[in-house]
Amino acid sequence: MIMETPQQNRCGEHCSIIETAAKILSEYPLCDRCLGRVFAKKGIELSNEERGRAIKTLLAMKLYADYTSEIIDAEYIGKIASNTGDPVTRLYRKITDREISVNPCYICLHRVSSDYIDEIARRVAVKLSELNASSFIIGVKLDSEVVKKELDVHVLAGLESSESLKNELKREIGKRVTQLTNIPPDFDKPDVVVIVDVNKDFDYSIQTQVNPILLKAIYFKRGRRISHVPWFTSNGSRKYPESIQDFIRDSIARLFDARDIKIHAAGREDVDARMLGSGRPLVIEVKEPGFRNVDLDLLNYILDDQFIKVSVIGAATRRDIESIKEGSRKRRKIYRVAVLTEKPVSEGDLEKLSSFFKERSVKQRTPTRILRRKKDRERIKRVYRIEVISISSRVFEALIYCDGGLYVKELVHCDNGRTTPCFSEILGTPAYPLELDVLYIEKTWDK
Ligand SMILES: [Zn+2]
Repeated sequence: MIMETPQQNRCGEHCSIIETAAKILSEYPLCDRCLGRVFAKKGIELSNEERGRAIKTLLAMKLYADYTSEIIDAEYIGKIASNTGDPVTRLYRKITDREISVNPCYICLHRVSSDYIDEIARRVAVKLSELNASSFIIGVKLDSEVVKKELDVHVLAGLESSESLKNELKREIGKRVTQLTNIPPDFDKPDVVVIVDVNKDFDYSIQTQVNPILLKAIYFKRGRRISHVPWFTSNGSRKYPESIQDFIRDSIARLFDARDIKIHAAGREDVDARMLGSGRPLVIEVKEPGFRNVDLDLLNYILDDQFIKVSVIGAATRRDIESIKEGSRKRRKIYRVAVLTEKPVSEGDLEKLSSFFKERSVKQRTPTRILRRKKDRERIKRVYRIEVISISSRVFEALIYCDGGLYVKELVHCDNGRTTPCFSEILGTPAYPLELDVLYIEKTWDK
């Protein structure tokens, strides 16, 4: 058994690079960069172009040595030279005194060069500056034929140390864009996603997708008949004059030079209910913004109107949208409701009402008024307590501390027995909700 010395081992690896390169280049023509990519995991701080060039130089040296030892002939060198180019073509010319043409790179047709990458990066830089981007990410789409050809080469080389062209383009274009613009890449939350779409002839197009700005906010409705989003009747006219989404869009879309604005809220109150006190959490989605850095104080100044006020707290994430939607039903609420009764009610009746609704479970079937859009089912919600103040013999005001998702109007009027127990039942006379306000929502934004 022959023990290999460490020197032989090292040579073994490097010699195998040359042998693999010779094997590939006797079959496929490759430019320096595409050859270097086959060995991308060999060595660090080297570009693939440098790797490919070095391997070709060593290969030329080995071919010359083999030629002088008469292991190979000029014809073999010619075959390798037409697939390799310089410096093997120089060697061939020197030993044969004949010209030889070089075949286009099997993978990139000799199109992918530093100039090619620079040209793409410059066009990307212009787009990013037009979009006022402060971060970006590059995606590359390669024609499937190119991907297949690259795989042919990498499979022949044994795959283990190769890098894909797609990956190299992404990295090199990204690096160059940052050099040109000082805009850093952001792999998690880029302002702009740039897609470079490369066809089989290596012509390319550049598409950009501008990510939305998400803002964490709280809204207050100081007026009634205000919906979340515009609400249209079947004949196309507006059912309510104002919506929170329209108010926000009309107020700030131009400030961001945005295509559109959408809101994501944690549940909703009835259109005719006000939202006071703690306000309700909201995420504002600013779509395709042209400007991204708008002053928070300015936003909050603009978003404070007579009937609607929106307080923007800061940046939000997609996760925030999910979490406010998930959490909205679980948050406890405090409502204020003005109640009209058919017959006069006494202080004693009201005391009876407030002592009854202490830690009380209430069974509710889906309210009749929303049966058209929601499934009929039963739910059990808790009323923790109520506080009652008499306004006149037939009008009183109640503060209701309860679970999120309790239908308060139905708690008052019973909805023909679909909600039980209810105010009408305990008072012994039909009761009607006149006005409803949401005063408090638990944990508006989780800290
Ligand atoms: Zn190439």
